[in-house]
Amino acid sequence: MPSLRDSGPRTEQSVLAVPTVTRLLNHVPAWLRVGGYAVAGGRVLVTFCALVIVVTMSLLGLNGRELALVAACAGGLLATAAVSLLLRWSRRTPATLIFPALTLVALSVIGLGTRDAAGAYLGLIPLCFVYLGLFHPGRIALGMVPAALVAYSAMLPIFDSRAGVRLAIYGVIWWGIAQILALTAAYQREVHTRLRRDARTDALTALGNRRDLEERLAAVQPGDTVVLLDLDHFKQVNDSLGHTAGDAVLSGFGHLLDQHLRRRDYAARYGGEEFVLLLPRTDSVQAMAMLRALRTEWAEVRTDVTFSAGIATVFPDTPPGAALAAADVALYRAKAAGRDRFRVAAEHRGPQRTAADVTHGA
Ligand code: GH3
Ligand code: MG
Ligand code: MG
Repeated sequence: MPSLRDSGPRTEQSVLAVPTVTRLLNHVPAWLRVGGYAVAGGRVLVTFCALVIVVTMSLLGLNGRELALVAACAGGLLATAAVSLLLRWSRRTPATLIFPALTLVALSVIGLGTRDAAGAYLGLIPLCFVYLGLFHPGRIALGMVPAALVAYSAMLPIFDSRAGVRLAIYGVIWWGIAQILALTAAYQREVHTRLRRDARTDALTALGNRRDLEERLAAVQPGDTVVLLDLDHFKQVNDSLGHTAGDAVLSGFGHLLDQHLRRRDYAARYGGEEFVLLLPRTDSVQAMAMLRALRTEWAEVRTDVTFSAGIATVFPDTPPGAALAAADVALYRAKAAGRDRFRVAAEHRGPQRTAADVTHGA
């Protein structure tokens, strides 16, 4: 597949790839979101846990030493959130596991350093798994279960004979929470990817469609070449062979384009039997050579259908959309000259071009 099609311009739509719950993070101030969703979610996790602890610790009847320890744990979590604002985070980094990991460490320390009080914070453990499920694959949460069980054990007032059973039950539930969220998030991403691909793909030829092309065209750079390509006398193909056979010609031509183009090139079905090629860092001479080679290959597939093309290179002063319009004029000239030939847009022709470059098979 031509690569330009695979790596299209990023649009607002890409935000839909993020699970719905995660998108609630869009409501927190922008500066709190630096580093991406997984980092922002981790920041929310540690901050929320720290605030719960800070607000409630004075109600637990702790002595001075215990109070200082609990406050230090909450402070550590808040410091983690603050430091995370200063760091540079790469996308999808496993380093974001630091947020649930440090939360579990803080809860363990509170459990070991206080008497009978840490049980109040047991409910913070499942939050770590909600975070893991939303931002990491399910297997990561499974790996975190032992750490959570250690934290839970440290927080239990007494480790009686039934504690082991509770550990097993909670471990499975926590992992289950993360797994369900991770699967839901993965499903949403997959649906989004499929919808996005379908919305930009021409159903008959599997090339880019008009909507996709518009975005690609807006991103062309000086030095790129735009080609408008039209099958000759295609109406006659339909009339003589039938519409279904016509469809087969179109999909066969689309397939050949897909095979023939370089990785960096892009092809779209502009409409009907017209196609647009975007050839990055390619001048009209190279585009002409490419079209000749394409013509030779196409002749091996179908001898009864030819195509004509208009070629326009984008120059620094070419207004947006003007290259396609110029290619259209050049295509018109190719048709008028008898079809089965290619023309370079005159107003886009560089000084070094010769008449041989602009005509094929006239
Ligand atoms: P020219 O050489 O001047 O381009 O002649 P043409 O017959 O190719 O051009 P014209 O615009 O007269 O006809 C285009 C034809 O393309 C008419 C239409 O039936 C056919 N067409 C457009 N879309 C499709 C399609 O999806 N499937 C099929 N089978 N035919 C299509
Ligand atoms: Mg045609
Ligand atoms: Mg046409």
